[in-house]
Amino acid sequence: MGERYAAASFCSFILQFNGKGMVKILEFENVSVVYPGNVQALKKVSLTINEGEFVVIVGLSGAGKSTLLRTVNRLVEPTEGKIRIDGKDITKLNKKELKKMRARIGMIFQNFNLVNRSRVIRNVLAGRLSYVPTWRTLLGMFPVEDKEIALSALERVRISEKANVRADHLSGGQQQRVGIARALAQKPKIILADEPVASLDPPTSHAVMKDLRRINQEDNITTLVNLHFIDLAQEYGERIIGLRDGELVFDGPASEVDESVFEEIYGRSITDDDLRGGTKVAQGNEG
Ligand code: ADP
Ligand code: MG
Repeated sequence: MGERYAAASFCSFILQFNGKGMVKILEFENVSVVYPGNVQALKKVSLTINEGEFVVIVGLSGAGKSTLLRTVNRLVEPTEGKIRIDGKDITKLNKKELKKMRARIGMIFQNFNLVNRSRVIRNVLAGRLSYVPTWRTLLGMFPVEDKEIALSALERVRISEKANVRADHLSGGQQQRVGIARALAQKPKIILADEPVASLDPPTSHAVMKDLRRINQEDNITTLVNLHFIDLAQEYGERIIGLRDGELVFDGPASEVDESVFEEIYGRSITDDDLRGGTKVAQGNEG
């Protein structure tokens, strides 16, 4: 008993000190992206993200936020540098390995990217596509287990009662929650959210950010969120990464970030347009 106790308390000691902090999940090493027309969207970006972190990436429009996120699942190929997920260089993956890697990366979009005319549950089942044989998905024959996964993903964002409603009959906030549920249905290791609240009103923006943060905390899913609203970044971010003209110009805990840091990242004074505003709302009250 004593031995086991000692082992357990040693483990909790390690956990306290290292927490989620120690398992590297994503590494960028001198990553550059040059688009046609010689647009330098990323310039030698190096960073390490640990499992379970909630990282908010901020920067002006054009700073390279979307490019950075998209290199993670290779929607954009780096021109130079290395990107490792779980220690594996993803630029070297073959087609099959890439597919497998993408299956575990959930993506959330500014405009939700739902199939509007399809029911909510169908949209969430799309998150299961890479796990189900194509012939079944073409026939709409998802295994019961996948339907259960999809429904429980909807429960996580509190809209399971909308499962059979057409996606385009939902409000923006509800549609984004379907987007989150679809990502969750993938059983992701990493969630990438590209300006997930840019199309939403302030209260709904807060609600969606809270959902993302809660899921990150409950499931320990590493989450990267692009935002250009600095108040949201500060309120929900755990770690903030600042991009300016494709360069990483800040990387630190949100608690160390104040207006002067944002001015540095943005290269100008902060204006009202950089704030989402709005007050925190009780969950479930928003559209
Ligand atoms: P952000 O998401 O921070 O607004 P982006 O990553 O979208 O920034 O863009 C970074 C830079 O790369 C911008 O100058 C943008 O115009 C340019 N860019 C983005 N996508 C492409 C593309 N497909 N082809 C050429 N240039 C692009
Ligand atoms: Mg963008």
